[in-house]
Amino acid sequence: MITLILSSLALAFQPSQTTWIGKEPNRIQYFDSGRQFQLRQQEFWQKFIKENPNWNARFDQQTQLPYRAWGKGISFDVSDPYVLEQELRKWIDVQNVFGVKSSSLQIKDLVQNEENGRWYVHFDQIKRLSQPVYNVQRDEVVRQVKFWRSGADFRLQKDKLTQFTAQTHPNVEGLDWDVSIDAQDALNIAQAEGPAPSSFHWNKDVDLVVLPWEVEGVLVYKLCWQVFSETEVPRGKWISFIDVETGELLNVYNEVRFLEGTLQAEHDTRTVDGSFSISPLRQLDIDGSALRTDADGYYLWDTELEEVTAGFVGRRVNVTNQSGDDAQFSITGGEYIITTDDGHQAEIDQYVFNTHITDWAERWASHINSQWSRIQSNVNLDETCNAYFDGEVNFYKAGNGCNNTGRISDVAYHEWGHGFHYYNLLSGEYDGSISEGIGDSIAFFQTEDYRVAPYFGQNGFYIREVSTNYSYPDDVVGEVHQDGLIFAGAVWDLWEIMKDELGEEEAYDTLVPIFVEGLRGGPTIPESFDEFVFADDDNGDLSDGTPNLCLLVDAFALHGLGFNGEGGLFSLAHEPLSNQVEVSSGFPVVANIEIFAEQCLSASLDSSTVYYSIDGGDSWDTTALDIRSDIVEGFIPPAIAGTEILYYISIEDSDGNSTTIPSGASINPYSFYVGEIEEIYCTDFEADDGGFTHSLLAGQNQEGADDWLWGTPVGLGGDPSFASSGTKVWGNDLGGEINGQSYNGEYQNEKHNQLLSPLYDVAGYETIVLSYDRWLTVEDGLYDQAIVTANGAEIWTNHDSSEGDEHHQDEQWQNHSLVFSTGGETSVQIGWEIESDQGLSMGGWNIDNFCLYGVVVPDEENGLQEEEGGGLKANCSSVTNSEYWLWSLGLGVMFLGQRRRR
Ligand SMILES: [Zn+2]
Repeated sequence: MITLILSSLALAFQPSQTTWIGKEPNRIQYFDSGRQFQLRQQEFWQKFIKENPNWNARFDQQTQLPYRAWGKGISFDVSDPYVLEQELRKWIDVQNVFGVKSSSLQIKDLVQNEENGRWYVHFDQIKRLSQPVYNVQRDEVVRQVKFWRSGADFRLQKDKLTQFTAQTHPNVEGLDWDVSIDAQDALNIAQAEGPAPSSFHWNKDVDLVVLPWEVEGVLVYKLCWQVFSETEVPRGKWISFIDVETGELLNVYNEVRFLEGTLQAEHDTRTVDGSFSISPLRQLDIDGSALRTDADGYYLWDTELEEVTAGFVGRRVNVTNQSGDDAQFSITGGEYIITTDDGHQAEIDQYVFNTHITDWAERWASHINSQWSRIQSNVNLDETCNAYFDGEVNFYKAGNGCNNTGRISDVAYHEWGHGFHYYNLLSGEYDGSISEGIGDSIAFFQTEDYRVAPYFGQNGFYIREVSTNYSYPDDVVGEVHQDGLIFAGAVWDLWEIMKDELGEEEAYDTLVPIFVEGLRGGPTIPESFDEFVFADDDNGDLSDGTPNLCLLVDAFALHGLGFNGEGGLFSLAHEPLSNQVEVSSGFPVVANIEIFAEQCLSASLDSSTVYYSIDGGDSWDTTALDIRSDIVEGFIPPAIAGTEILYYISIEDSDGNSTTIPSGASINPYSFYVGEIEEIYCTDFEADDGGFTHSLLAGQNQEGADDWLWGTPVGLGGDPSFASSGTKVWGNDLGGEINGQSYNGEYQNEKHNQLLSPLYDVAGYETIVLSYDRWLTVEDGLYDQAIVTANGAEIWTNHDSSEGDEHHQDEQWQNHSLVFSTGGETSVQIGWEIESDQGLSMGGWNIDNFCLYGVVVPDEENGLQEEEGGGLKANCSSVTNSEYWLWSLGLGVMFLGQRRRR
């Protein structure tokens, strides 16, 4: 039967965990009270207690001898070990309670504890064999054998015997055995039928022993070869008992002692909301680095130690308590659940959360674990309401209304996400805003919750959420966590869209690899869409789309990212109209339609409209434009001379989405003047700065307060990266390096500054047309004002919504024509101003191709001399009413209508 069990276990053997331990063939002792009473009535015992009052005993119910006896001390001469042994032998023979004579006992231990004088004495029971047996392994002839773990024990204190055992076996004189198995056979059997049949066995030895053995309740004595061997894998010091008569493997056990158990921990389930869970402490180091728990928190160690220590240190994470000693707990085997009795809750949680996230990484981004092999997590830092990553992850104590951030899994995952961002990079930048978005994404990949870090506040509040569609660039506020939500929100929406399209499981399996690969190029937020598309490509061809392109387009468009941001898949390009003379047929308008990701179009282009205003934007009229393959075209209706026309173009698709150009629509429409005008003065700011001057009108006078510059804009803060013509413009803070200072392109907060033209002689004109190329970005007029003045009077200012969120953001150079009266003055001076409040600031003014024109009054009114058009010869041509303005798409050549004077 034993053999059967061993065979099946040997088959199931796994070197790492199920090392066979077995147990020694100790007989099980029963102490039934009725039977014990009977045994105490035995004649030899009654005689003993008559002579030695106040003694008692428990009996071996098989041998019927005192298994252990104890009582009033009996004096012995302990002056000399030899004398003591002889006295004990005499006593054994006289007392007759051992079932054998002292001649069958061989002294094994005769030891005194020097500290307290107690004696420990053991005699082995031996038996003489009727026939000697040859032990081939030891090359010796065996004439007598020991009984395994049998004999007599004596305990003496203060020179008195107070306890003894009679674990001896009586009536064995006549025992005899037929030895048919030799020592070498026994070795072979022990290995072949033992738990490590294919391992290399060494340190082999064989002894002959009598094994007391119970068969169906009967005690018999088996003469056995006791076989010793060792193996490395599995770790074993094997002791086997082979019956010399049958060759049966009666018992085998492993003398290597194992410390075995399971470590778990009670941790905050997700956050500090009172909900706790119990999870295994995975890959935790035990006793330094001697041993490590497995993925189930299980450990098995062949140590002689019965107690070892551990802390929250493991293969993947090392937790340090910054407000006290690091947790240390003792391990004694068995199932154990770590609680706050063993360490601070934040330490426990950090170990569990970080092993969770590294397990996640092992599945989805194992290269992170390879490079960031062990996370150093510091908890209970002496501050509150935050956490940070600096190569290590760091968490603050509870207080000031916040919970301990080390106890919030979302925060742990977010901070790990910063490390993920860093170690995942193969190229590109470690950009702060997208890093925050990555951290939040890593968190919701684990929690599947749009809320980030519930119970960050002790009142339960969460710190951020990703369901709001923050959009690029409108919602950029310059705070990395807030700006990061543009990206995190896009990833969240991509997940939602993928769930609808692909199902829960496939969505996750599709999204996470794109997320990991899409961040290897180190994108900033506006580049994230493109990197995700690159990551999603499966055939080395981006012209035919990618497997999930349309889902990517939809998700990122919700956040102003990707193809044309919020505009959907259609976008428009338009070369703005310039000033022109009155015509009867209307003003031709044309715009190019650009279609991205054609394979993702679900809607068709439905209609196109031009919106125009002749009253400065107070009211708007519309006319339809024709859609012809890749262009829309049509006419703004004729307008009388002297009119300033504002307009923008819109397209609408069959899903009801629309997009306009300019994207600000009525906030920053195109403009042109209708009617005959003649040049007073023009400059493109190339040869010189036009004699313009600038100054700070209000606000603290500091470096860059008056930030007007004549030069080339570099594309920062919303500015263009090129002049409208040539290389020179006037503008607020053109950006870049100036005199060793670095400028961000934006005007400053709480400043009022001004650019002023020289005075121009406008004698003879009642009405002036100011025309210049503008690229202006400025916060909603509720907060920041961009102003144009003529002789100090305001003639234009930017759109002011009552909400404060309708910023003027030109996305191309566009003509800005403004009509104003001289008011009888003979000279005019034009000014551009920025008046900012605190908070958001943008790129401000960029001004190029400045012209002042006088409005031509009919001859009968002003009687001016007829003359040939001069000045801008290259740009001017004579036209008549029957001719209409010629334009050229894409070249930006400006034709000015100028009527030949009569
Ligand atoms: Zn962060």
